[in-house]
Amino acid sequence: MEKQLDKGYQWVELGQTDGYQPCQCERCRALHPEPGERLWIVHRGLAEELKKRRPGKRVMMISYSATSKPPRTFKRFPDNVVMQMSSYTPDAFAQWAPYGVDKLWTAELRIPYTTLGVDPPPPGTLWTMNVGREEYPLGHGNGPAVYSLWSPNLETRTFHDPSTFGDVVFK
Ligand SMILES: [Zn+2]
Repeated sequence: MEKQLDKGYQWVELGQTDGYQPCQCERCRALHPEPGERLWIVHRGLAEELKKRRPGKRVMMISYSATSKPPRTFKRFPDNVVMQMSSYTPDAFAQWAPYGVDKLWTAELRIPYTTLGVDPPPPGTLWTMNVGREEYPLGHGNGPAVYSLWSPNLETRTFHDPSTFGDVVFK
């Protein structure tokens, strides 16, 4: 994590992947009978250490599969933790409410200049753009979609109105 942060990143991600297999060593098993709770305990410890060693940087954990339920052995994460929710139903948010993790979301997008057919613009160049999101909180095909835009458009309420796009200034 420190190696990534020292490259200049502000956030680092810490979470088990798909196909996660719990470690069977005695030390891990002694932490807690349930593998998900072990992950929470270890990840919180790492976040606490990171807070001391890299103040101001953040660690994003994931509530997913083994960690789909919040921790039971503690109620608080250090304030450098951001929780990535794989389930974002009102119920899931209610379960997380007491834990004091930030209620925000971010998206990181990478669009190679080559796909736009342009060279990297010189510093100070101004572009306009927008980013739209179409989300189905109850799952695809279940209930209404929720739309959001990085640069809001409350007038014509479409993704495709360049007059409402936001400014992007290249550094
Ligand atoms: Zn182990």
